[in-house]
Amino acid sequence: MKRIVILGAGTGGTILANTLSRKLSGWNITIIDKSQQHIYQPGLLFIPFRLHGYEESGDVSQPIRKPLPDSVDFVSAEVTGIDYSANKVETTAGEFGYDWLILAMGCRVDPTAIEGLSEAMGRSAHTFYELEGALALQKALDGFKEGKLVLNIAEMPIKCPVAPIEFVFMADYYLNLKGIREAAEVEMVTPLTGAFTKPVASAALNDIAAAKNIKITPNFETASVDHEKKVITSFSGEKVEYDILASIPPNVGPEVIDDSGLGNGAGYALTDPHTLKSKKADNIYVLGDNTDVPTSKAGSVAHFEAEVVEANILREISGQAPHPDFDGHSNCFIESGYGKALLIDFNYEIEPLPGNFPLAKIGPFSLLKETRLNHWGKLAFKQVYWNLLLTGHLPGDPLLPAAMSLEGKDVSLLSQKRH
Ligand SMILES: Cc1cc2nc3c(=O)[nH]c(=O)nc-3n(C[C@H](O)[C@H](O)[C@H](O)COP(=O)(O)OP(=O)(O)OC[C@H]3O[C@@H](n4cnc5c(N)ncnc54)[C@H](O)[C@@H]3O)c2cc1C
Repeated sequence: MKRIVILGAGTGGTILANTLSRKLSGWNITIIDKSQQHIYQPGLLFIPFRLHGYEESGDVSQPIRKPLPDSVDFVSAEVTGIDYSANKVETTAGEFGYDWLILAMGCRVDPTAIEGLSEAMGRSAHTFYELEGALALQKALDGFKEGKLVLNIAEMPIKCPVAPIEFVFMADYYLNLKGIREAAEVEMVTPLTGAFTKPVASAALNDIAAAKNIKITPNFETASVDHEKKVITSFSGEKVEYDILASIPPNVGPEVIDDSGLGNGAGYALTDPHTLKSKKADNIYVLGDNTDVPTSKAGSVAHFEAEVVEANILREISGQAPHPDFDGHSNCFIESGYGKALLIDFNYEIEPLPGNFPLAKIGPFSLLKETRLNHWGKLAFKQVYWNLLLTGHLPGDPLLPAAMSLEGKDVSLLSQKRH
């Protein structure tokens, strides 16, 4: 029997296991993951603040097997090697041969890459990018009465590049709810030139941060963290003091990707940005945070990529060439506090623009604008994630096509920029 092996049962791997298993008969589909739990990562943002029903691990996790179809073989093991010339994967549970291989092992934080950060972790510094860190940050904030809360992005790229600005917006909201906002400073220290990677959205988010009295310190490339003195230092010698450091350490892909010769040196698989095929092997596809493609590392991206990878594998199995259909499409709600959120939708070519989403005039969501409906969309997404997205049942065209639509977007801004 022919075999497809998927490495990683996170967002992208789980969607693909579900959709491929419905489309292919007579194939064995095996999915391998080292974790026991599937984490709903967008919920990690709220755990430090005990907001919107997120307080403990059960609020963001389910057994990893649960959203996978029964027809797919799940192997609980760590992937330790990929021999792509022999079509073979090595794991802690033995070897697996394949006809087609999918890389979907995401990325992880690596505090060891910054001098002093590992020593500070769990003491004066915590990361909400992982469940354990989000819970530790919650404890630290429980005891916080006054002082300086600093969010630091150590370096780019990171997954979900809007999560840092959401974190400081949430911090402002939380400290106000606690009645201690006046006694606290909130600062975001970033290697970017502003709040986000894309200029129009960055300008809008910088304005919101300024109105909330949140300081943004840009162009700060973090060199070291001193836990004793509670200070972070940049490569150019700039220093920022803190009382609590919410750290986003460097993000790296799995070592096994580089060790097997499929990676770019930072654990991200060398990937064709449009077909999503590995640049190193003809029978390997990549999706989600594990790719090196130049768009955001986000769950929405893993979802749109899963559609393109599914279609291309089915094409190749039936003897056709893959289509270069992936356009870098990404979208994300940005929670801004006080029951409001923004929404952004963009791709490789077109940065986030104002307008309505997904339909012109009707919306109902608003792009690049704070609304209550966007906030309810963000909160409702958890149920959508577990029940529709992971199982591959989210409606596509015309509501959520894999390729970005200009429908509802203010394209006049685009033409002004181009002329
Ligand atoms: C705080 C935070 C907030 C976020 N908010 C949003 C949001 O609002 N919207 C949005 O779209 N995205 C958001 N994201 C990003 C989103 O969660 C990820 O981009 C998405 O989950 C990526 O899916 P993936 O399948 O590529 O990787 P993952 O879902 O991370 O899955 C990777 C899987 O691979 C497994 N794995 C790794 N290495 C190995 C190995 N060697 N052997 C076996 N298994 C392995 C892991 O155990 C994991 O299960 C957020 C992320 C964070 C951290």
